[in-house]
Amino acid sequence: MNCRKRHILIKGKKYSVSVIPNFEKRFGNNCDGICDLDKKKIYIDGTASNERRQHVLLHEIFHAMFHENSLYQVVPHSTEEIIVDQCASLMMDLFFNKK
Ligand SMILES: [Zn+2]
Repeated sequence: MNCRKRHILIKGKKYSVSVIPNFEKRFGNNCDGICDLDKKKIYIDGTASNERRQHVLLHEIFHAMFHENSLYQVVPHSTEEIIVDQCASLMMDLFFNKK
């Protein structure tokens, strides 16, 4: 598989991050990223722009953070989606001066 891999630690758990060139073929076209919480793997659409990939990576990292802190037990998934996306936008604005 032609992709770049790296790992990040989220609350002591090692998550692999892979940028996937043929993401749509593998995962469908209704998202730009996936966080597999069981396998601790984050996949990012390699065809998205740099800015979009940064945002999606942050979004998926916040999903992992929700999972590792068991917040998914008290926050409905639809609300989690809004929170993680707002957090990703805030981080993009704070650290990359982009939305
Ligand atoms: Zn999400």
